[in-house]
Amino acid sequence: MKNIAIIGGGVAGLSAAIYALRANAQVTMFEQYGLGGLVATIDKIENYPSYPSIDGFELANNMVMQAKQLGLKVVRRKVLSLTKEQDDFVVTTDKDSYTFTAVIVATGTSHNKLGIESDFVGKGVSYCATCDGNFYRNMPVAVVGNGKQAVREATYLADLCSLVHLIVPESQLNAEARAIDDLLAKTNVQIIYNATVSEIVCADTVSAIKVFANNSLSQIDVNGVFVAIGAKPITDFINIEGVEKQKGYLVVDDKCQTSVQGLYAAGDVTNGPLKQIVTACGDGAKAAVFACAYAGARK
Ligand SMILES: Cc1cc2nc3c(=O)[nH]c(=O)nc-3n(C[C@H](O)[C@H](O)[C@H](O)COP(=O)(O)OP(=O)(O)OC[C@H]3O[C@@H](n4cnc5c(N)ncnc54)[C@H](O)[C@@H]3O)c2cc1C
Repeated sequence: MKNIAIIGGGVAGLSAAIYALRANAQVTMFEQYGLGGLVATIDKIENYPSYPSIDGFELANNMVMQAKQLGLKVVRRKVLSLTKEQDDFVVTTDKDSYTFTAVIVATGTSHNKLGIESDFVGKGVSYCATCDGNFYRNMPVAVVGNGKQAVREATYLADLCSLVHLIVPESQLNAEARAIDDLLAKTNVQIIYNATVSEIVCADTVSAIKVFANNSLSQIDVNGVFVAIGAKPITDFINIEGVEKQKGYLVVDDKCQTSVQGLYAAGDVTNGPLKQIVTACGDGAKAAVFACAYAGARK
């Protein structure tokens, strides 16, 4: 029996599930939150072939429906540990342990933190403009970061909020030219370069941030702070010797196999050079095909 675990129910994991289920594998997916992962929180996707423009939730939901129609079984739990015992893998949640012949890790990434905001999450600090932007309609907000995520979040919030302060720790923005053009076209976005947020002012809810830039400290009144300073791969639950990583990302070969036999990885958690939906789906497909071949050969 091809008995395969997929850890993570984002687009990489869902693509893997579709391929593995069509190959008649017995598939168990572990997902700690809602299926669809990061894509389900993105307002607009414009580079996924066959959809000139589609809401991220709708795209992710299409994949969820397709996988469910094939009989996907989902365990809605966080995986706390993945170990290898002889030739089998053991997946452990806070409730149960399960044994599998092959495993596909598709856990994506988690947000990097500023280090000063943990007490204020839910009181005005957020990591997702699409999820929480609506709470700050017609109010001033700040976005912190310089990359693709910060640029997209600031552009999205500009349509909802009275004013968006983009606090850029570096001297320039680092995103696709078209995304930067969209941002710069907004008249209610103020960008402060080479700036750091030194304090978040919060009694019951956030009311301001203190920003250090140009050798001086200033206070900016905002009701929301969106932290968009990148992410790191989620691999801390993997307790298997010999798993090769590169800057924390799982190193995979052209079959999406890691350095451990029977252990595959797909999507943003890998060291692949392009972190996009289309590549995550491609990884998921490859990981499933080769995980099924490996599990089938073991019997
Ligand atoms: C703001 C933003 C905009 C983007 N826009 C685009 C775009 O327009 N086009 C595009 O192609 N790409 C875009 N991307 C990139 C795209 O979202 C990612 O490449 C894609 O979501 C990666 O999918 P994934 O399945 O690898 O990871 P994820 O979507 O992160 O899914 C991982 C899943 O694993 C689960 N998980 C993690 N740890 C555990 C655990 N221990 N136990 C159980 N479950 C766990 C998580 O809850 C999550 O559901 C964007 C990214 C961002 C941040």
